[in-house]
Formats: sequence, structure tokens, C-alpha cells
Amino acid sequence: MSEQVVYLNGAFVPLSEARIPVLDRGFIFGDGIYEVVPVYDGRPFRLNQHLKRLERSLAAISIDNPFDEAGWRTLIADLIGRHRWPNQFVYMQITRGVARRDHAFPKGVQPTVFAMTSEFVAPAAALREQGLAVITADDERWLHCDIKSVSLLGNVLAKQAAVDAGAAECMMFRDGILTEGSSSNIWVVRHGRVLGAPVNHLVLEGIRVGLLAELCARCGLDYELRRVPREEVLQADELMLTSATREILPITRVDGVPVGNGQPGPVYQRLIEAYQAATREA
Ligand code: PMP
Repeated sequence: MSEQVVYLNGAFVPLSEARIPVLDRGFIFGDGIYEVVPVYDGRPFRLNQHLKRLERSLAAISIDNPFDEAGWRTLIADLIGRHRWPNQFVYMQITRGVARRDHAFPKGVQPTVFAMTSEFVAPAAALREQGLAVITADDERWLHCDIKSVSLLGNVLAKQAAVDAGAAECMMFRDGILTEGSSSNIWVVRHGRVLGAPVNHLVLEGIRVGLLAELCARCGLDYELRRVPREEVLQADELMLTSATREILPITRVDGVPVGNGQPGPVYQRLIEAYQAATREA
């Protein structure tokens, strides 16, 4: 594979040649937002929903969207077409731009617009068969987790705590109520019902949150978003996580304790089959 090509401020350039000034507010303040879109067989999956979330994130931090929907679609198709991988994930980032360091928004500055794509390798079969180990922690992040901000320090520290413990994800609780993983949404199966955290300022509304509602409907499973206390999570029959790059994966150990019988459960099996079918249909 020849070198990755990335989009930066209007031009496609080799990754190794892409440069941004050190005064970019993304670097100085984490003042920007991002998106990650999976691509199956050359086609972006749920792009509409990702572009709407991008629009919401930009509006939340008062950056004008640099493109309309058609503009984003063209850019993304162009980027995908420059790489031969059938499955990719496209990363897009917009920051407030380059300006003298001052917390307040600078005037008359162009946002920095960056996009890249990488090969997407679906999670290994062994992960689907054995499931993941996770740890739990208090959610110490800010109160605007609904914005897909590049300021990810809280998420980074939570993920590293998991890695240090030999686990794959950190499942977080605020005041004893489930929020989400450091880079995923968490799902609790109890008595055949699929439960997830309510969509509010405490979690990122994963594109797979809406998708899971559809998949549950197709599979005839009850689906509910509501406050799920820690005790209920720990008594789950099954646990799962979802994200663009991990699709749906079963969680089979929490803080070293097996979930249910310690094996991926039947609800997971139905949902992953439905998920894979949805990616083929799209
Ligand atoms: N929550 C957080 C904190 C995340 O980083 C992600 C991954 N983007 C998700 C949830 C899942 O979102 P999605 O399904 O859109 O990948």
C-alpha cells in the first residue's frame, strides 16, 4: 500500500507531509471536535447520522460547519477512493484554527479541517468468542460528554487505567449510575431486555445507540434507555459495548469477576449477526 493520503485545509497530501502550526487551538486548548465513520466495502456506514452528530458538535462549540452535507460526502468519498482497503475508518477533525494564545475565541480565523482514513480491521474472532475484560471507575469527566470533543484527557486516563489493569475498557459510573466506556457505549442485558444509559449530556450518543434500537426491534428484543445503577450492571446476564471500530463486543469480566457464566451470551450472538447483516445491506 502506498502512503496514506490525508485531507488538510483544502488539499490532499501524504500523511508524512501534513503539518499544522503549533498555535492551532486544537493543539493549545483541545478546542475542536471530531468524528469517526466506519467504511464497509468502500461505503461509509451510517454517514448521515455521523454528519448530523458532527454538525451538533460544531454548533455546541460555535464553529461554523466548513462544508454542507454534500461537501462532506464528496470529501469523504474522495478520501476513501484514494486508498485500496475495502474496509476503512474515516477520521475527521475540525478545530477553531490558528491564533495567538488567548482562551477567548479569536475573530476572523478559519477553522482547521483535517480528515484521514485508515484500514479498518474488524475485531478478531477470538474477542467475539471470549469477550473482553473491563474495569469500573468513577466518571471524572466534564459535563458535556455529548460533544465529540478532541479534549479527551478524562477518556484517555480512564482507558489507560484499564490497560494498566490488563483490561480492554473502563466502564464509568457517575454517582453510581452507568454512563459509558472511555471510548464506547455500554449495554446491559437483564431478563432478555437490552438496557443502555439515557442520551443526555453525560454520554456521547454513539451512532450505534440508534442502530442498536433498530437491531433489537429486528431481533424482537426489548430495548430501553434509562438510568442503570451500578448494582444492576454487576448483576447483568450479559454486558456488551459498541463503537464504530469495535462494532459490538461482549464483556465477559468486570473487575476480574465473570459476567453471567463468563461466556458471550445469546443476546450478543443475535445482535452481532444482525449488526453484520446491517453493514452488508448498507
Ligand atoms: N462514547 C464514547 C466516549 C466514544 O468515544 C465512542 C466512540 N466514538 C462512543 C461512545 C461510541 O460512539 P459510536 O457508536 O458513534 O462510535
